[in-house]
Amino acid sequence: MSSACIKCGRPLRPEPADASASARARLYGPECQRQIDAAIRILNTTTTCPVSARAAARLLATGATQRSGSAPHVYSTRSENPATPNIVYLTTPTRCTCPAAEHRPSLPTCKHLLAVVVLEA
Ligand SMILES: [Zn+2]
Ligand SMILES: [Zn+2]
Repeated sequence: MSSACIKCGRPLRPEPADASASARARLYGPECQRQIDAAIRILNTTTTCPVSARAAARLLATGATQRSGSAPHVYSTRSENPATPNIVYLTTPTRCTCPAAEHRPSLPTCKHLLAVVVLEA
């Protein structure tokens, strides 16, 4: 599992031996978690493209979108389609390799882009 904050990349302190500590606490440092929580609230209430926005909020909440490690500003997200579990989409703040982004680049239909913009904020 990742031991660095997904958002800023700083190492996360080890969890206290407290089983009630949520899994979310291990994804982001405390300050980044506050920013992520705020972004998730906004995404969950947006009306511009609610389906993609809520999907992006879920990616952020579950840590599904991670730094790829191959280059700065590049993030990876495993496909959520059970038929293609080995596909990994690569996303920068302006581009994504997923079908939604490739077919409709001018529309905010790509949840990965929405999530990455939050992570890069
Ligand atoms: Zn952080
Ligand atoms: Zn995408």
